[in-house]
Amino acid sequence: MLISAILRTKGSQVVSVAPDATVASLLTELARHDIGAVVVARQETLIGIVSERDVVRHLRRRGPDLLAAPVSDIMTSDVVTCVPEDTVEEISEHMTRHRFRHVPVTSKGRVVGIVSIGDLVKSRLRGLEDDRARLEAYIHGT
Ligand code: AMP
Repeated sequence: MLISAILRTKGSQVVSVAPDATVASLLTELARHDIGAVVVARQETLIGIVSERDVVRHLRRRGPDLLAAPVSDIMTSDVVTCVPEDTVEEISEHMTRHRFRHVPVTSKGRVVGIVSIGDLVKSRLRGLEDDRARLEAYIHGT
């Protein structure tokens, strides 16, 4: 199964924030869209990713003043991305190895979607169910 198949189902909406947006406004975006991470972009160029985990980690260190700090203070700049042609298995393995749950999808230098570990698990389960149905049909000769 390819990443492009997941994007066909979930769409290509990617929530992004500017690097100078405050952490408080980042929290508003996470809550409003009910998501765990957003990409950080400057004039449509991907420059980072920031997740709820970054907020938790830095909040513990800096206290409530963090809410007024820019997102660029807490984002990860070295973003691991994938392309629509990558397989779900490859990207699941990346996520497990690097211990993150979100991967932006890029094509020709543009962000065209984002997949979460939940999207990948859902798609792998669906694949396994399809395989089981095919095997059952084969065994029963239907
Ligand atoms: P997450 O598991 O997605 O909440 O992220 C855990 C940590 O990994 C946070 O510090 C994120 O900023 C970082 N992170 C999340 N996704 C990526 C990614 N695709 N590339 C690099 N770092 C990431």
